[in-house]
Amino acid sequence: MREMILSYNIESFEYDVYALLTSFYPGESSKQCIAEQPTGSRDELHVHQNEDATVSMLFFAGDVFSYDKEYVFTPSSAGEKEIKWELKRFFYDSLSDMSGRTLPWGGLTGVRPTKLIMGTAKEQALSDEGVIQYMYDNYRVSPEKSSLGLKIARLEDSLLEPHRGRGYSLYIGIPFCPSTCLYCSFLSYAIYAYQKYVDRYLECIRKELQAMTGIMKGGGPDTIYIGGGTPTALSADELGRLLDLIEEYVPMENVKEFTVEAGRPDSLNADKFAVMKKYKVSRISVNPQTFKDDTLKLIGRRHTVSQLYEAFAQARVEGFDNINMDLILGLPGEDLNDVSHTLDCVRELAPDSLTVHSLAIKRASRMKEWISQHGSISGMDYELAMKMAQDTADALKMKPYYLYRQKNMAGALENTGFAREGRYGLYNIIIMEEVQSIYAIGAGTVSKKVFTDGSGRIERCDTHKDLSLYLSDIEAMIERKRKLFGEDK
Ligand code: SF4
Repeated sequence: MREMILSYNIESFEYDVYALLTSFYPGESSKQCIAEQPTGSRDELHVHQNEDATVSMLFFAGDVFSYDKEYVFTPSSAGEKEIKWELKRFFYDSLSDMSGRTLPWGGLTGVRPTKLIMGTAKEQALSDEGVIQYMYDNYRVSPEKSSLGLKIARLEDSLLEPHRGRGYSLYIGIPFCPSTCLYCSFLSYAIYAYQKYVDRYLECIRKELQAMTGIMKGGGPDTIYIGGGTPTALSADELGRLLDLIEEYVPMENVKEFTVEAGRPDSLNADKFAVMKKYKVSRISVNPQTFKDDTLKLIGRRHTVSQLYEAFAQARVEGFDNINMDLILGLPGEDLNDVSHTLDCVRELAPDSLTVHSLAIKRASRMKEWISQHGSISGMDYELAMKMAQDTADALKMKPYYLYRQKNMAGALENTGFAREGRYGLYNIIIMEEVQSIYAIGAGTVSKKVFTDGSGRIERCDTHKDLSLYLSDIEAMIERKRKLFGEDK
């Protein structure tokens, strides 16, 4: 693998330049260091703040950069925020010129671009064309992505209206899975090795739910989402106990959506679907990620495509009429033909919603290690793959309804949720747009209090990620939430 060196004489450039460099040159490995002067390596990008406040970007040619070049930035604004964005645009434009590429989301690195797009439209009272122009001039976002963001933001706005600044949602994390996927960065303990902790874990969930009823006064949640991990890694009996606890402690009169992330087909059977139906779970996910058996094996999913078909059919027989499917574009060894085959299978099954992820290489995942051993994972045209996924969603009469971005995403793209009318995942929008508090229960979860005083203030508290610590420290975890939600309620 070819290597680029990023050196800089001031640490404050580190994040912005590194994020852009790896987006413009995906698949190349890069190292960073602080250096007063260029280190003299081949393929080095040296960013230097000069004494007169100008900033230079010096490219030194090797195998990746094809010629030596220097770009110089002279600030023209006075405000700190303006200069910050001027500088970001300079980094973006220089890298774009050097690489001959543009990025769909320009210089934006945040998780929630729709929030920014909608905020811009409202604050500046701009027309759609005005927003698109503004997003390009300021952040270099492509017109296609700004239009997509606007469309989603408008739909979200109407769906969120009844929940904005009032009520709350409940999240319960179940950190067990049948096995750990190669790309996983979530909290996931292989159930076969951690089965002995399940009873104690459910007891902690009981304590958390009981405490919640005292802390969250004034009615139950608007949505409930059981995620993880894979909640259906629990046996049918354990899952039934969990759902029974919810029925016992959680007032259900406000609940508009009750999701269980069924996720892995190898964790599903008719008994578990029947249990979920009995407790009025209204939305589930059955996630293929891909319809190619070789890839599933490679990424450690330990289920087959035929298991997915079987699980999906069982869910329909049990009467689930709101089933989501997650897909990942850019999995190792996959090309556009594989994506096309996967999308054909999705059309055949016709789920009610579809969440299309661009593969994100997380630091904590085994995928990162895999890439360092096997090199770049896929040279596919990600924008075309995403367009093909959008066409499939169109064919299934689905609209894009939520969107978010992560670091190190394939093609510098986004994750998009599509759904048929009336099947929008409300919890997904609530958590993304931060319009309502989330009371989160279980190991490695984060509760979020959205203040209702108009200040836009948000405070968070988390729980231990380490399972043993969570189990032994449960009272302290509850106390954290009492402190967070206790006041102003
Ligand atoms: S199913 Fe999800 S949470 Fe479990 S290991 Fe795979 S990616 Fe991680």
